Amino acid sequence: MVERISKLLIANRGEIAVRIIKTCRKLGIKAVAIYTQVDASAMHVRLADEAYSLGSDPYSYLDVHKIIEIVKRSGVDAVHPGYGFLSEKAVFAKAVEDAGVIWIGPRWSVIEMLESKSITRSIAHSLGIPVVPGTLGPITLAEARKVADELGFPVLLKADRGGGGRGIRIVRSPEELERLFKVAVEEIKTSFGSDKVYVEKFIPRARHIEVQILADQHGNVIALSERECSIQRRYQKVIEEAPSPIITESERMKIYDYSIRFMKHIKYSNAGTIEFIRDENGNLYLIEVNKRIQVEHPVTEMITGVDIVEQQIKIAEGRELEIKESIYKFNGHAIEARVYAEDPNTMLPSPGIITWLEFPRNEYVRIDHALAPGIEISHFYDPMIAKVIAWGSTREEARLRLVKALSEFKINGIKTSIPLLIDILVTREFIEGKFDTQFLTEFLNKRKSPR
Ligand code: ADP
Repeated sequence: MVERISKLLIANRGEIAVRIIKTCRKLGIKAVAIYTQVDASAMHVRLADEAYSLGSDPYSYLDVHKIIEIVKRSGVDAVHPGYGFLSEKAVFAKAVEDAGVIWIGPRWSVIEMLESKSITRSIAHSLGIPVVPGTLGPITLAEARKVADELGFPVLLKADRGGGGRGIRIVRSPEELERLFKVAVEEIKTSFGSDKVYVEKFIPRARHIEVQILADQHGNVIALSERECSIQRRYQKVIEEAPSPIITESERMKIYDYSIRFMKHIKYSNAGTIEFIRDENGNLYLIEVNKRIQVEHPVTEMITGVDIVEQQIKIAEGRELEIKESIYKFNGHAIEARVYAEDPNTMLPSPGIITWLEFPRNEYVRIDHALAPGIEISHFYDPMIAKVIAWGSTREEARLRLVKALSEFKINGIKTSIPLLIDILVTREFIEGKFDTQFLTEFLNKRKSPR
């Protein structure tokens, strides 16, 4: 049954809320914003058709009860959670469904299952999809000792319910394991409300490659190309691109097949991402499934021409995917750089009020942001303030356009990571596509040490 969405609440803020509003406009859907007091004059509030206050607590974007109350009061027929905040919380998805409103995401029971990374690993394993060697379930210190011994150090201790690069610790020796296990469990308990950890072999010189999936409620699942996100800091992505400059065609087909099989098996519907790491020998291991729109989705949109938010809305309405090719053809190359409000030298946050802005102008460059002069960049929220994405018919053309766009992007009032992004994009390693997930850390360490 197809149910038409005509009014949609965005349970998020910042650039992703603005991004979702754009697709709502295109589809003739009324967009409803929610905001905290700090965000009273934020762009998502200004652009929405209606806006409702969550009150003075800056953390209210996480308040399920308050948001559901607004869902009911505003008379919306759907909720889009964006990424972060409550986007991957089964309790929120369930509360939205219980309120009789369409949830733009996978069913809450699927989210609940995938909230556990070890369950995800077990499902993949049972389907014959390779996962990083390690434990399938959560473990005790005694078990961790045994497994780490078998795998060989270094190993990673990972929070079963971790995310966003938090909850991962590298352990380099048996002594470190003794010392770090308890610390890690305590830390994880406070951050994620579950003290379960598991052990994975640390893959040196890894590349992060992920597959964008679209899956409807009728069992159709397609792979909408892949992205490479190996330029990372503290396990978090900084520069992403599509397609991956390293994988071979047969590796590409293999990860598309794994991803489609996994999503079909769990009867997934919505956009979703299956993350893999690739070792130096080309072995690919599934590490995680993300059940929401990703920060880096624009690179996929730029090489495929598909509006992923529109697809999410149509899937949630119960429509069948219009795209029938299970493996989607893409065109050219796109690279995205995440701009942070931080000092490019110290990398410390740089909150403040934007006093002046100048955007680069180029038809092949897209900037996703929620910026305007007078807008306050608050220390309460994610310091990522914009994404600059450039398309080219080749990777090199996209790279040059991105460097140019970043150097023409002027923001006064706060410091930004733009100079650092440019420095990365002009390295020989980036130009040649020869980098791995440790590259940025090593690059930053080299910059710090006196020459
Ligand atoms: P999160 O859910 O917190 O984002 P992930 O499991 O997706 O955690 O991993 C985040 C990043 O950590 C990956 O992109 C990769 O760079 C690194 N990583 C994860 N697992 C491994 C591993 N087994 N070996 C080496 N690096 C890893």
